Amino acid sequence: MRVAQPMIHEILPVGWLQCNCSILGDPETREALVLDPGDEVERVLEILRRHSLNVRAIVSTHAHIDHVGGLQKLQQATGAPVLMHGDDLELYRHLDQQAAWLGVPPPPAAQVDQLLREGDTVRWGPYAASVLHTPGHTPGSVSLYLPGDLPPHAGKAAAESEQGKLLAGDTLFAGSIGRTDLWGGSLEDILRSIHSKLLVLPDQTLVYPGHGPATTIGEERTSNPFLQVGEAPHRLGRRGQA
Ligand SMILES: [Zn+2]
Ligand SMILES: [Zn+2]
Repeated sequence: MRVAQPMIHEILPVGWLQCNCSILGDPETREALVLDPGDEVERVLEILRRHSLNVRAIVSTHAHIDHVGGLQKLQQATGAPVLMHGDDLELYRHLDQQAAWLGVPPPPAAQVDQLLREGDTVRWGPYAASVLHTPGHTPGSVSLYLPGDLPPHAGKAAAESEQGKLLAGDTLFAGSIGRTDLWGGSLEDILRSIHSKLLVLPDQTLVYPGHGPATTIGEERTSNPFLQVGEAPHRLGRRGQA
């Protein structure tokens, strides 16, 4: 009997803002998705080589420089298409301004091959992640939701993968939410996005934010101070990350 192997999921904090770049690979077809290669593309390529993975798609959760800085290099190295939401193209066109604001040289811009929209499906190997448009941190912020979908015969590995995964970009963090004071940000929008599209997911869903540690939907629903009904989020001190 064949035993299904769990999905390869490598999380690599890259660049000086430590953006979490995720590499999601299928151990059988060796197809992979790379999310938010913000920097340090050589390290990303080394992980891809180590697992013998071929990149099917490169997804950007949003066009902030710490998440898109390595897009062009990775696109060149792998030939894989770059996907992002159209509402962040304006931000992506102004990478030079974002770079100037941070005092770093502007990275080369990739060609955006496909625009993501709410309800789209991104596929690699046997996996299919749905695109949730979650504006607020930026107008074109997206989250990817991968339901736990291994077939019942998968056995022990299935128990783990029955937990869905949410790749949340800078929309939702462990104990915090994305900042909304940068270009195109909206506190009203980010709260609406989180409440209507993320907190409706199953409690056990594993959440992988764009910075910092992983969490779960249940944990954030009950304890995230920005998401408690009746609280005024703008009065809380620390507000999110870039
Ligand atoms: Zn970020
Ligand atoms: Zn950001």
